[in-house]
Amino acid sequence: MQDSYRQDNVPAILNVVSPIHILGGGLAGCEAAWQIARAGYDCVLSEMRPVRPTSAHQTDRLAELVCSNSLKSESENTAPWLLKEELRRLDSLLLRAAQAARVPGGHALTVDREVFANEVSHAIDRNPRIELRREEVIAIAPDAITIIATGPLTSGALAEEIASLTGVERLFFYDSISPIVEADSIDRSIAFRASRYGKSLDGTDDYLNCPLDREQYERFVAAILGADSVPAHIPEDNFSGSQAPRDTRFFEACLPIEELARRGRETLRFGPMKPMGLIDPRTGRRPYAVVQLRSENLRADSYNLVGFQNHMRFPEQARIFRMIPGLERAEFLRYGQIHRNTYINGPALLTSSLQLRARREIFFAGQISGVEGYVESIATGLAAGRHAVELAAGWGIREFPRETAIGSLCAYVSGADARNYQPANITFDLLPPLEESERLRWRHDKQARHAEICRRALEKLDRYRATVSAPSYA
Ligand SMILES: Cc1cc2nc3c(=O)[nH]c(=O)nc-3n(C[C@H](O)[C@H](O)[C@H](O)COP(=O)(O)OP(=O)(O)OC[C@H]3O[C@@H](n4cnc5c(N)ncnc54)[C@H](O)[C@@H]3O)c2cc1C
Repeated sequence: MQDSYRQDNVPAILNVVSPIHILGGGLAGCEAAWQIARAGYDCVLSEMRPVRPTSAHQTDRLAELVCSNSLKSESENTAPWLLKEELRRLDSLLLRAAQAARVPGGHALTVDREVFANEVSHAIDRNPRIELRREEVIAIAPDAITIIATGPLTSGALAEEIASLTGVERLFFYDSISPIVEADSIDRSIAFRASRYGKSLDGTDDYLNCPLDREQYERFVAAILGADSVPAHIPEDNFSGSQAPRDTRFFEACLPIEELARRGRETLRFGPMKPMGLIDPRTGRRPYAVVQLRSENLRADSYNLVGFQNHMRFPEQARIFRMIPGLERAEFLRYGQIHRNTYINGPALLTSSLQLRARREIFFAGQISGVEGYVESIATGLAAGRHAVELAAGWGIREFPRETAIGSLCAYVSGADARNYQPANITFDLLPPLEESERLRWRHDKQARHAEICRRALEKLDRYRATVSAPSYA
C-alpha cells in the first residue's frame, strides 16, 4: 500500500498562491487533498475530530465511514459501478484504499471500515504536501482558495458562517428525499397528466396524477401506519413521539408522510395527497385523493413522488407505494429518506465546477454540496480538488464531460430545479439520455441501454484524461 501512494510524475509547478484550504477530513475532503497534493500543490486539511466530535463518527480517523461499510454495486454497467470506475481511472486515493480494505460482499464493494480509514489516514499523514490540522474551523479564510467539505454534520459555528455566505434559506439541516420511479414503469392508462386548476408552468400539464378512491386511500393510510421504519443511527434521526428532533425549525418543513398519517386519517388528503383542482379524465370527477408525480428537469425518464419523503424501510416503501393506482409495477430508482444532513441549495449557488457563484475561490464538495452517498461524496471531492488546482494554476477550469457520472453529478448539484432541490445519489437518470436512434434501438433492452451509456461515459472520460491540461493528471 505504501508504495502505491507515492506521487508519480509531479510537475515542477511553483506554488505561487498560499496553500489551498480544505475544511473537513472526511471522504470528500481527503480525496480533494490527495488530488491537490498529487498535482504538486500544497494544502491544509482541517479536521475537527477529536477536538470536537460529531454525533455519528466514532473515531479520530480520517475518512471514517459512519454507517454501512458498502460502497455499493460493483456489477459492471450499473450507475454506482460507473462512478467508481471513473474514480479509479482518475487515480482516486479513496478508491485505492477501498480496494485494499475490501472484504467479501457479493456484488458490492464492501470494505473493512477500520482498514479503509487507516489506509486513507496514513496516506494523508505521509504526504508532505498535506498539512493536517486538528481544529474546528469556524471562519473561512478571506484570501485562500477553500474547499468546504464538512459533511452532513458540519459543526454549528461553521454552519453559521456558511449561512452568511449562502443566505440562511439556502442552507438545510435535514434531507427530505421523496422516492423516484422510472417513467416507463408508470401505468399511463391510470395516471393522468394535469396541473392543479389547469395551471401548468410550461403548458405541458406538469404532473402525472395517480387517483385514489376512498377505499384505496384508507387502505393506503393504514399500510403507512403499520409500516416499519428505518432505525435511527443518530439521535437527530428519531422522527416520532417524544424523540422527534427538538429543533422543529428545520424539521416541520419536511415531515415524513408517516408522521402526517399519524396526525390524522385525513391529514395526507389535505397535504401532499390533496385532490383539489384535479379532474380524472376517465371519470370526469375529482378523485378522493391524488399522488402527484413530477418529472425533474435534469432527471430524464423518471418521476418524483411529490411530498412523499418518508422514513420507512425500503422494502416497505416498495410494497406500500405499489398500492397506489398506476404504480403497481413501479421500478424505484430511489427510495424516500429523511435524515440529519447539512447541505446547500446547490442549483441556486454553485457553478458546475462546484464553485460558489458569488465567490469563485470557494468550492463545495461532498454531502454538503448536495450529493448523497459515500462514493458521490468522494467524486465531488475529487472534482473540487482538481478544479481548485486548475484555479490556483491559472490553467482555466476543465469541467468533467457531461456524459460522465462525475460530470452528471456536478451538473445536477448546480443545475437541478432550485425550488425543489433534493440531494441525489448517482442513478442513470442523472446522465444525459442516449441519442434517439440509440434509444429506439435498445428500447426493449434496458441492460444494453445502460451498457451503452457506460461505454459512452468512459470513452468521454478517457478523452478528457488524455487532453487535460495539468501534466500530472495525464
Ligand atoms: C448518520 C449517517 C449515516 C450515513 N450512512 C450512509 C451510508 O450508509 N451510506 C452512504 O453512502 N452514505 C451515508 N451517509 C451519507 C454520507 O455519504 C456520509 O455522511 C459521508 O461520510 C459524507 O462524506 P463527506 O465527506 O461529505 O462528509 P464526512 O465524511 O462526514 O466528512 C466531513 C468531516 O468534516 C468534519 N467537520 C465538520 N465540521 C467541521 C469544522 N467546522 N471544522 C473542521 N472539520 C469539520 C467532520 O468531523 C468530518 O470528519 C450517512 C450520513 C449520516 C449522517
